[in-house]
Amino acid sequence: MSRLLKIIRPLLTLAVAAIIVWTLWQRLAPQFEDLPAHATQPKPFDAAFIRLSPREIATLPIAARFDHPLGSPNAAMTYNARPFRIERHLGDDLNGIGGENSDLDDPVFAAGAGRVVYSGVPGPGWGNLVILAHRVPDAECPGDFAVVQTVYAHLEKITVRPNQSVQRGEELGTAGTAGGQYFAHLHFEVRQGPYINPSVGYADAPLNRIPPHAFISQHRGAPDDQGNPPPFLGAEEVEIEAQNK
Ligand SMILES: [Zn+2]
Repeated sequence: MSRLLKIIRPLLTLAVAAIIVWTLWQRLAPQFEDLPAHATQPKPFDAAFIRLSPREIATLPIAARFDHPLGSPNAAMTYNARPFRIERHLGDDLNGIGGENSDLDDPVFAAGAGRVVYSGVPGPGWGNLVILAHRVPDAECPGDFAVVQTVYAHLEKITVRPNQSVQRGEELGTAGTAGGQYFAHLHFEVRQGPYINPSVGYADAPLNRIPPHAFISQHRGAPDDQGNPPPFLGAEEVEIEAQNK
């Protein structure tokens, strides 16, 4: 009798397990089938979730020096039409000194050596957008480098490809109107960290943005006292100055 029980018990257990699985499947399977297509099919990637991998970060070009992205290296011929944090702005709006569309199709330059981590049209307000990622020497960061992104928006055209490495001063595209939405200007942002997301150009909080103009000024090269000294004001020039009075 106990022998028979020994054989029946595992069979019974198996049967009960099979019934449970079958019942659950009967309840759930129709629900899976009823799900709308967008719930079961893979979606195109969401830019909000892209983070540069440690390997990508380690291979980013090092950018110790930055220059202005529009106009001359000293940004002559441009002015800042809407500075950082004015009217919730997250960047600087660099505009040709002629105003309106005077800077339309002017070259936009990479502010520093970096890699193209985004290039495209993320949304109607942005128009053509390029994001560069840079490795900036910073003793206060782990590995002695900070990941910094520079953002170039409303471009008339883009002349770089994703994953392309660029030098400081290399042309990325030209200043534009985001498809006629604005007078031509360059919306320029500096962002901190490895998360790549076109995101927004205006917000109540500065998010991961830092003041672009101050950042460029801090990274223009050697400190002032290490460059060439200003011309020596000789005796002759003093005399001329005195005569003019
Ligand atoms: Zn702007």
